[in-house]
Amino acid sequence: MNSIEKITVPIEIRALKTANIYHVSGNANYIVDTGMSENSYRELKNGVELDKIDFCIITHLHIDHIGGALYLTKNHRIPVYISENDYNAIKYITDNKDEYFRDYRTLMISNGVPEGLFNKILEGNPIIKFINYYSALDLNIIRDFNLKDTEIIDVPGHSPGSVAIYLKDIQAMITGDHVLKNISPNISVYSNGVDYLGMYIESLKKIQKYVVKTGYPGHRDNIDDFSGRIDEIIQHHQRRIEAMKSHLSNWITAFELASTIEWSKNRKLMDMNYMEQNFAVMETIAHLKYMENNGIIENRYINNVYMYKITE
Ligand SMILES: [Zn+2]
Repeated sequence: MNSIEKITVPIEIRALKTANIYHVSGNANYIVDTGMSENSYRELKNGVELDKIDFCIITHLHIDHIGGALYLTKNHRIPVYISENDYNAIKYITDNKDEYFRDYRTLMISNGVPEGLFNKILEGNPIIKFINYYSALDLNIIRDFNLKDTEIIDVPGHSPGSVAIYLKDIQAMITGDHVLKNISPNISVYSNGVDYLGMYIESLKKIQKYVVKTGYPGHRDNIDDFSGRIDEIIQHHQRRIEAMKSHLSNWITAFELASTIEWSKNRKLMDMNYMEQNFAVMETIAHLKYMENNGIIENRYINNVYMYKITE
């Protein structure tokens, strides 16, 4: 019989403050996620006998989930597993830093971000900020663990290779950041031209089919009404699309759109710190890609900048 223990650890992100790590025991004894840093690791070490842990699964590549992984391998020889897609995304970035940086810059500038602001936003890009840490990681690709009453489900969208873990016997779903209770998970862009929001919504519908008594998210409180929460997140994106559409009757860049719309907690882009501005611009590009994919808008490349407008 599976059982879950939740360990909440501090992280260095102002808007979130903490992340959740799960200790699952049943026919294996493992950890899901690791927090953000050595601070998170220390807190985890206080809560769990790490020398008895068989392995660790990372739900997705973000630093606030993978940031303690290095200490598990280094100090306890715990093997760390991540999906093939996120493994490849990390490997691509760490092996091709210059290319990744160039593509990231091109994406931002061609979506209208002013040069000066880009340089500041760059400092807030968590992957670039932690690139040396990512390079130092020793990761394995998730294989068939063959754990009784356990299913590792691919839920791409929030990252290229996010996974959720379903514990069938206790009807529990560990969601990473795919489903959170009071926060709408950030949707970003990892490869230009890919519709991550479309992928994300498909992945939400995929796990909505499971019978889930409790959802165990990567941040904050557990989710009781799992299916209802998924409906809310889908509606949130539909509302955001409607809000964006009202500004798309004339040609506009992603950056102009991100600067115009109202974000959560009634904030404007310029009220955010640089990391949040990075997320907001990326999220705007992801929504535009989704709308374009669904024939709602069209884009034109004019003077080295992408402009978007509702399809006539
Ligand atoms: Zn995340």
